[in-house]
Amino acid sequence: MSILSVRNLSKNYTIGSGLTRRSRDVVHAVEDVSLEIREGETLGIVGESGCGKSTLGRMLVRLEPITAGEVLFEGVDLSQLGGRTLRKTRKRLQMIFQDPYASLNPRRQIGLIVEEPLRVHGMKKAERKQIASDLLRRVGLDENAYEKYPHEFSGGQRQRVVIARALALSPKLVVADEPVSALDVSIQAQVLNLFKELQKEFGLTYVFIAHDLGVVRHVSDRIAVMYLGKVVELAPADELYANPAHPYTQALLSANPRMDKDDKRERIILKGDIPNPINRPSGCVFNPRCPIAQDICRTEVPKLHQVGLREVACHFPTA
Ligand code: ADP
Ligand code: MG
Repeated sequence: MSILSVRNLSKNYTIGSGLTRRSRDVVHAVEDVSLEIREGETLGIVGESGCGKSTLGRMLVRLEPITAGEVLFEGVDLSQLGGRTLRKTRKRLQMIFQDPYASLNPRRQIGLIVEEPLRVHGMKKAERKQIASDLLRRVGLDENAYEKYPHEFSGGQRQRVVIARALALSPKLVVADEPVSALDVSIQAQVLNLFKELQKEFGLTYVFIAHDLGVVRHVSDRIAVMYLGKVVELAPADELYANPAHPYTQALLSANPRMDKDDKRERIILKGDIPNPINRPSGCVFNPRCPIAQDICRTEVPKLHQVGLREVACHFPTA
């Protein structure tokens, strides 16, 4: 069953200081994205920096106004919510960011930080202290963490605090935006494991954003690959790695250090740079860099469509 439905979602940012329309530019950060997020799954979102992952993630939890399209949470359009129902729904949708230090107020004790959302929702002190202490223990911090301050912890421990705070309101869906990118590689696996354990224990659904295919592979059930604001391929994780169908996914995978020594795939070097999202190529956004582009790719936008087990937005998908 799907918990979140994303329909034709787009986000434009208008930039530039000009007073007239012509002196301003429009950045198409996210363009016509549709997908379903299933209850209890982890949907990974990958793509290079600037492709719209964070913008999409923020729109999913209503932290970012949308330009067009809709996000339905348990069937209800988020943009239509107000007042009490909005506050109630917000509790169920939490977001975790990349930099755990920036997410924590340096002058507040850890326990108070974790309790804060409960206080805002009117819970009594004794009860919220109990919940915060339990959560801190559950994410692997010791007894006296409650009284300490953020600077007394390492990056990995601080991200555990951020996770505890996100769980305080018993969310259904957690959008984690590159939650381990700022951590030492040796710590990343531990925090990823914690995410997995908590998912089972609390029945969470995750949207897990990363720029690194290696990181999302082990936590994701399905993976969406983004390029210039669009989802170009969406597939079960194993399938995506074994048989990528979109030429961009193939290039991304081939640039990753070999995960398997029997893997004989050639390294694919893409020509040119990612275009500026202000001047997007017409037709398929990937066509100027695509090794197999044909005429139709320069004129017609390929729709995401089912090919075997995956969905792919390409006129000439492989597999
Ligand atoms: P990612 O998370 O994949 O790196 P982002 O969602 O942060 O990508 O950004 C997508 C595009 O939107 C980029 O071109 C970025 O510069 C632009 N962008 C993001 N936020 C803003 C903003 N607040 N104002 C203007 N442009 C933005
Ligand atoms: Mg980002």
